[in-house]
Amino acid sequence: MNKTDMPVLNLRKGKEESLDRFHPWVFSGALTRMPEPGKDGIEEGDLVKVAAADGRIIGTGHFQIGSIAVRMLTFDQNETIDSSFYSRRLREAYTLRQTLGLPDNNTTAFRLVHGEGDFLPGLVVDIYGPTAVVQAHSPGMHFAREIIAKELTEIKELDIRSVYYKSETTLPYKAQLDARNDYIIGSFLGDTALENGLKFRVDWLRGQKTGFFVDQRDNRALVRRYSAGRSVLNMFCYTGGFSVYALDGGAREVVSVDSSAKAISLTEANVELNFPGDTRHAAEATDAFKYLDNMEAGRHDLIILDPPAFAKHRSALHNALQGYRRLNARAFEKIAPGGILFTFSCSQAVNREQFRLAVFSAAAQSRRKVRILHQLTQPADHPVNIYHPEGEYLKGLVLYVE
Ligand code: SAH
Repeated sequence: MNKTDMPVLNLRKGKEESLDRFHPWVFSGALTRMPEPGKDGIEEGDLVKVAAADGRIIGTGHFQIGSIAVRMLTFDQNETIDSSFYSRRLREAYTLRQTLGLPDNNTTAFRLVHGEGDFLPGLVVDIYGPTAVVQAHSPGMHFAREIIAKELTEIKELDIRSVYYKSETTLPYKAQLDARNDYIIGSFLGDTALENGLKFRVDWLRGQKTGFFVDQRDNRALVRRYSAGRSVLNMFCYTGGFSVYALDGGAREVVSVDSSAKAISLTEANVELNFPGDTRHAAEATDAFKYLDNMEAGRHDLIILDPPAFAKHRSALHNALQGYRRLNARAFEKIAPGGILFTFSCSQAVNREQFRLAVFSAAAQSRRKVRILHQLTQPADHPVNIYHPEGEYLKGLVLYVE
């Protein structure tokens, strides 16, 4: 669609304020009227211009049905959204990773595009060696997937030879886009990636998210630092990232727990890949709360709690905070004196202060002496756009429990 016939959506008076501060979301309530796809000459995923009440054009974005009606791609009136736009943005994303030293000889798994944090709302790209896994969270990015895939392969330094598209579960169900998970470019080239020198099998075909949680890389390295001689419990282990680092750091024993049997076998495979035949590791497919209830007090002196997002939406906030409090209370009750607790929340709806308060209540309930050693977040390849504070989603505390 060329610039002249692009639909213009008008904001109600005063609703341009957050956009003028470069916040990339336009909520449906901010529009004078939410257009009806199919009727108003507009379809979900189309490019639209957004105008202030006085008619001033603010920028261009992807339209979709839902509480976020437009995700802004540019605040430059003259910037056209075409293949060279994606090429520029992807190159900027790569330049940042280059600044971070990613990839290198020890780390080939990292995030290249972190949605709003890379000025590409609705798009996530994780890199595993020669393979890029692309995830669209908006219909607009779904329609742009072929261009994105091609432009990824144009970043010659990355040498991406295979692009897997995985958006069956991330696109709005009602948009009926029928997005099939499949290779857009190339085919399977192997599934072993490196993170801080450790090897991981990444199953993007069947795994959660893009197959691996690349956002815990720095925090796993911190676990490695504290593991020597300790008895480690890695709760919600998924592919066993923290377990492998703990073994590498010289843990006396490591127990990995996840309710999913599939996760347990992925963990065992990754442990075997790095430490064949190592008898320090055991894994159990069971519910986290059940394991902690049955666990002998003092058994473990390093515990990692990295649960799935308890609150997917703001409406679930109260229950989520209760969940964090209950889970952490059990860990405080059972961790050995002199123990170290790594506790995380990846719920975007829960902010840092709320999470800290939930952990604080859990600590008080146990009456233990607890001190904060580190306050953790997501790594730098998951940058936060300063105009979009919602992008800071991963929160962690490292606590010393006497
Ligand atoms: N720590 C992991 C990521 C955790 S993802 C990493 O570093 O890669 C969350 C995991 O929690 C999933 O594997 C899921 O199967 C598991 N899970 C969800 N509910 C659970 C429960 N009640 N008890 C145990 N595991 C659970």
